[in-house]
Amino acid sequence: MAKFAINLKEGKLQAPKSDVIIGIDLGTTNSLVAYIKDGEAVAVKGKNGKSTLVPSIVHFDENGGTIVGDIAREKLLSEPENTIYSVKRLMGKSYKDVQNVEQYFGYKIIDEDTESLVKIRVFDRFYTPIELSAEILKELKERIEIELDSVVSKAVITVPAYFNDAQRQATRDAGKLAGLDVLRIVNEPTAASLAYGINLDKNNGQTIAVYDLGGGTFDISILSIQDGIFEVLSTNGDTFLGGDDFDRVIIDFWQNAYFQNNDTFTQKNQKLRIKAEEAKKHIGKHESYESELDGIQLQLTSTQFQALSKELVARTLKSCQQALTDAKLSIQDIDHIVLVGGSTRMPVVKDAVRDFFQKEVHDKLNPDEVVALGAAIQADILAGNQKDILLLDITPLSLGIETVGGLMDTIIPRNSKVPIRVGRQYTTSVDGQKNLKIAVYQGERDLVEHNRKLGEFILRDIPPMPAGIPKIEIQFLLNADGILTVRAKELRSNVSQSVEMRPTYGITEEEMAKMLIDSIQNAEGDMKVRGLLEARNEANNILHSADKFLEQHASILSEVEKINTQKLVEALRIATAGEDKDYINKAMDELNTYTAPLAHRAMDATIGAAMRGKKV
Ligand code: ADP
Ligand code: MG
Repeated sequence: MAKFAINLKEGKLQAPKSDVIIGIDLGTTNSLVAYIKDGEAVAVKGKNGKSTLVPSIVHFDENGGTIVGDIAREKLLSEPENTIYSVKRLMGKSYKDVQNVEQYFGYKIIDEDTESLVKIRVFDRFYTPIELSAEILKELKERIEIELDSVVSKAVITVPAYFNDAQRQATRDAGKLAGLDVLRIVNEPTAASLAYGINLDKNNGQTIAVYDLGGGTFDISILSIQDGIFEVLSTNGDTFLGGDDFDRVIIDFWQNAYFQNNDTFTQKNQKLRIKAEEAKKHIGKHESYESELDGIQLQLTSTQFQALSKELVARTLKSCQQALTDAKLSIQDIDHIVLVGGSTRMPVVKDAVRDFFQKEVHDKLNPDEVVALGAAIQADILAGNQKDILLLDITPLSLGIETVGGLMDTIIPRNSKVPIRVGRQYTTSVDGQKNLKIAVYQGERDLVEHNRKLGEFILRDIPPMPAGIPKIEIQFLLNADGILTVRAKELRSNVSQSVEMRPTYGITEEEMAKMLIDSIQNAEGDMKVRGLLEARNEANNILHSADKFLEQHASILSEVEKINTQKLVEALRIATAGEDKDYINKAMDELNTYTAPLAHRAMDATIGAAMRGKKV
């Protein structure tokens, strides 16, 4: 197995030897970029020189042009439909995953096939969370390129500890699309611990609690570090609890105090929100806050705020207790407590955490920068600048399989530590399918035709079932000697088959480096092709179910409904034959919107029939 980090350092990629690797915190509310300057991690400020934070907000104009950051944030009020925030919540998610939280978003999330990945409609274009995150990453890349006056191409990006494979892969893809070679995805709590240098005490194992209260999310992670290696023992939290909620309790308080149930209050809502956040920050340093809004005096004392926020803080502590329980630890086992996220600046939060863990907390670093700073330190380690930290054996190129339409589905991402075992579930795409070909590829491109084929085999004798019903688990096991075992198993029938291959056999390091460069240079084109193929796959599924639907439920549909549905189906069929993914997505959206109430009615009718048939 190649120690590939060294090859990267030798400059076989486009970047010269001295090129820095940047650290990026791609946050739900704010994102930052940091690097090591004169031996110390620093976060980079924008052109206006004010803040290191880039609001994670993308604004689109009618022509598809984008603005990211502070200016986009201002558009949140005036143009909510085309100003996208909180995209991190949608990374790697299918519509099914976000069904219950859709009303939370001001923009349109597209709900077609529930298993398919979420897309966002802005005017007549459709964007994946990957593309939107790439816009934020491009902004950060530009920011640091201005600062350094040179092109950067390598990055470490952080993600929450609980992010699954799909969410991590989506983050890598966003980096690639932004022109960044993502050397490593690092857990946010790990990065925060690195920023505080907690890994430096090599002799003793340490247990760390990282308390991260951001703008809209709360995460508590319990980590252990032993011989420089971090392990996540447990995570807990609340994906809808953050600084915004503290603003909201202040708004509610003012509404009761000054407006009662007066309607003018709702009209002032946005202005009040800004005032509330201002008050929240002010209260951290002063006894009371006073301001005026359209002739009304607003007031808040720190005692009042303490009472208002008590319940929110208590909820975070409950999660902390659960995380400890899950890790089978007690408060006394925690050696360090690290505070992360802008909301931990609030004294009410800081004091509560200190009291809960009965220990001083690490809070010397800027809590909204600490994750980015740690990412920069991790980047520096990867660059080989921190001599006492060893690089582990890693796999130099991603490994995956071919899925419908010739797309590469990465199962083991490049730069993963070996040995590693990863499993993923697939299903069939044709009714009664008996055999499934599994073709294994190596490389970073989106289409398998551009990657290197390692081998293929056929899983035979799957019992006949309708498409989508079989559960086929594909497992990749890469051992320390570089041998890859691929196993496919149909879980309902236990039919299985496996093969072995050696991914590094017959490929030179130059060829590997070239494959990497190609993948970044072609990222945009590849993403377009992927978007089209994915849209076509989804459309074909929808067409298949629409035909079935019309056949099975003809009796409950009116003539007009039948004709309208058929028209929309035909429009989708035509779009699917074309080359424009937005056109296909739009046709799917329209068909779905029209048929959703019909499908509901069909379901009610089916249930009704079942009830009638029931013996009592
Ligand atoms: P995320 O990790 O979700 O991107 P951040 O860590 O940047 O978010 O935290 C943003 C939140 O921190 C916002 O709700 C903001 O109001 C809050 N915040 C920032 N500074 C302060 C402060 N001085 N006092 C209280 N809250 C603050
Ligand atoms: Mg954060």
